[in-house]
Amino acid sequence: MSIIFGPVNSRRFGLSLGIDLSPKEKSCNFDCLYCELEPSKPTDKISNPPKVDEVIAQLQQALQKFQDVEVITITANGEPTLYPYLDELVDALHTVKKDKKLLILSNSSLIYKKEVQKALKKIDIVKLSLDCASPRCFKRVDRPLKTIEISKIIEGIKKFRKEFKGLLVIEILVVKGINDKEEEFTKLAQVLQEIKPNRIDLGTIDRPPAYKVEPVSYERLFELSQTLHNLPVNIVSRDNTTQKKLDLSKPEILQLLAHRPLSKEDIATLFSPTTCSIFHQLLQKGEIEKKQVGKVSFFTLPSSKRH
Ligand code: SF4
Repeated sequence: MSIIFGPVNSRRFGLSLGIDLSPKEKSCNFDCLYCELEPSKPTDKISNPPKVDEVIAQLQQALQKFQDVEVITITANGEPTLYPYLDELVDALHTVKKDKKLLILSNSSLIYKKEVQKALKKIDIVKLSLDCASPRCFKRVDRPLKTIEISKIIEGIKKFRKEFKGLLVIEILVVKGINDKEEEFTKLAQVLQEIKPNRIDLGTIDRPPAYKVEPVSYERLFELSQTLHNLPVNIVSRDNTTQKKLDLSKPEILQLLAHRPLSKEDIATLFSPTTCSIFHQLLQKGEIEKKQVGKVSFFTLPSSKRH
């Protein structure tokens, strides 16, 4: 049974070896419209989860072979926080990981649970999904087990954020015609202003989904990102080639950055060559600052100039 996969090179997180905590079959308490795995009935258990010793033994072998790996990613063919020995596993990973960072990719469903928070607090980078803030939208996009409520998840993330010292990334995946409305994003923005994640990865479907749903364009992601005022949004989209390049003056660039930080990729996608050269002059003069969040660089106004 192969529990370790990769390495995979991710622009968002670096060169990573993955741990699949549900290697036999999909085990997830959601049945998201956009899932890359096959559709399946939500469940609250991983059947036949691998033992902690087995995971560690396979990981050690892989780490010997792939020494330049930067990140060890805890994930599953489904939801990793359903793994019954998660806390024990995280402790064991700390004894073998050396200089590698630990990352977990979770759908947030169990973040309100004390035992899940206890394990996740010991991980360097926690990526939690939050596609909607309203119950109706949440049920349409993520199709969770009936017992799971979005209000409990949001409260759980807020509490976790207050105590977690590592890097918190929130991922929003936008599905055309479902969670791509301004009203939903305004609600999400309110919640995210309170959570204050270190980074928001805003993306759309880019691999064949479980159900018949469609992605939104880069332009729509950019419009939606503008509702997330002052938050560090990283737009993750492969469809950015049709974006019309913007010719902006110095005050227009500063005004755009006053609204929210832009990632290096946004700048490459949005700015014309002339705008890029004005932007670099502003950066050199210190009128714009660069900030690194994990593997993603953001550009923002110096804190004294933000409102
Ligand atoms: S949470 Fe992840 S694994 Fe579960 S259904 Fe959604 S996309 Fe698939």
